[in-house]
Amino acid sequence: MPQTTVEKRILLSPPHMSGREMHYINEAIETNWIAPLGPNVDAFESDLAELTGINGAVAVSSGTAAIHLALLLLGVKKGDLVFCSSLTFVASANPILYQGAEPVFIDSEPETWNMSPSALECAFLDASAAGRLPKAVIIVNLYGQSARMEELVSICNQYNVPIIEDAAESLGALYKGKASGTFGEFGIYSFNGNKIITTSGGGMLISNNVEALNKARFLATQAKDLAPYYQHSKLGFNYRMSNILAGIGRGQLKVLDERVMARRTIFNRYQEELADISAISFMPEMPQTFSNRWLTALTIHEETAGLTAAKVLEVLESENIEARHVWKPLHLQPLFEQCKYYLHNGNENISEKLFQTGICLPSGSNMTRDDQMRVIQCIRNSLGTG
Ligand SMILES: *Cc1c(COP(=O)(O)O)cnc(C)c1O
Repeated sequence: MPQTTVEKRILLSPPHMSGREMHYINEAIETNWIAPLGPNVDAFESDLAELTGINGAVAVSSGTAAIHLALLLLGVKKGDLVFCSSLTFVASANPILYQGAEPVFIDSEPETWNMSPSALECAFLDASAAGRLPKAVIIVNLYGQSARMEELVSICNQYNVPIIEDAAESLGALYKGKASGTFGEFGIYSFNGNKIITTSGGGMLISNNVEALNKARFLATQAKDLAPYYQHSKLGFNYRMSNILAGIGRGQLKVLDERVMARRTIFNRYQEELADISAISFMPEMPQTFSNRWLTALTIHEETAGLTAAKVLEVLESENIEARHVWKPLHLQPLFEQCKYYLHNGNENISEKLFQTGICLPSGSNMTRDDQMRVIQCIRNSLGTG
């Protein structure tokens, strides 16, 4: 039957305000704290540090800026190697190029979709044999699922190489009861508009090393020396978060737990309603971890389904539903085509397989049950199991 009406668009992961943001924004306006820095920034930093159980946090203009600062603090410079997960958003690796350093990409493993310890080990063996160890390893927690931190930390410790945990997507997730993002020398979160909580745009650098965080504050405010005039001895950046946006962040942080539970409920409903379709496999949640299920991700078995993941996305788009491919691995990006890539178990290409078969479904914490049922029905129709 030809479709006559276009239904309202269902978005992948739209912002979801708590209603408490205006209080802090108004306070900033009434006290005229319309600047980068101010009381909302200080409170947002200390609230987030307390929530994640870490010594300190620095609020910045984006998650990307936080990764860049972490690399600067670890002394990453031109010609250095940095290992990085391949299956991730480009922002995980762009700051490596900002520093003129060389990314080496590491494959995923099937149980977490995150960095493969066996691939990481291979990369370290080669780097060690060549006498050129990386300066840092960037480990990403995809779609709110923690990587195999214990194994990965132990390999990095063996070579004495620090970790930057890219927890942009995994705020509120746990690994063995400990907050995702707190496992490396530095961790970063993002508050971009599509993330689990948002400041419209923003990020946070966290660490137990308070001295390093003070250096980050210095670098993020144009590296202004302690002098009675504008004096600069180091190259700095304008990376701090504004006091108004931090007010939004304070209002959002208060409902983080609710947001995580809402996303998990959405995931569970997809899983229950699509359980009978054998061509679909959901992204696993590794035992002893707690995912925030930022986005519900699944793979489609092409032979069983009789169609590709790309085709399912086309059908969803035709029904005005925003769904996406899983991240295109960075080693496949034209930007990074010169870079090395290490496979899981030496010969399994997990990230490419997940890219070919994986899709992310609308997962906003404010999505209604009716809207979700529309997505579910559309998937069932596309797979001929309506
Ligand atoms: C969103 C995201 C970032 C970047 O955060 P911004 O705040 O958008 O700069 C980095 N890494 C991953 C994995 C992300 O999803």
